[in-house]
Amino acid sequence: MDHLTKPQRSEAMKKVGTRNTPAERLVKTVIRSLGYRFRTNLASLAGKPDVVIQGQRKAIFVHGCFWHFHACKRLPKSNRAFWLSKFESNKARDRRVVRDLKKSGWKVLVVWECWKKRPDYLKKRIAAFLSDH
Ligand SMILES: [Zn+2]
Repeated sequence: MDHLTKPQRSEAMKKVGTRNTPAERLVKTVIRSLGYRFRTNLASLAGKPDVVIQGQRKAIFVHGCFWHFHACKRLPKSNRAFWLSKFESNKARDRRVVRDLKKSGWKVLVVWECWKKRPDYLKKRIAAFLSDH
């Protein structure tokens, strides 16, 4: 059996479950508490941002640290070449999406999943992003 089958399958399953993660819920709670209205998963926008504040043309992505290979994560021990190319292509896609959105006049904030452990920091970043005109 191909040794990539298992990670690929678990990846497919994980993606199904990435909607409304705890970090995403925290982001929405913070935005609400700041008095802003938002939409979620606007399919018409590049990269389907997790949260969109349409009136301000602002988009927020809540990235899972594993899939988007945040600096807080290490490469898995097995199948390193597979994961490295996977993460690199994910990161390249992230960059492309942000670039495309900015080109069409959107402001973009990337919130990392691990920020949920630092709610004050998360709140500060979101407040700064939303009050910046
Ligand atoms: Zn992280």
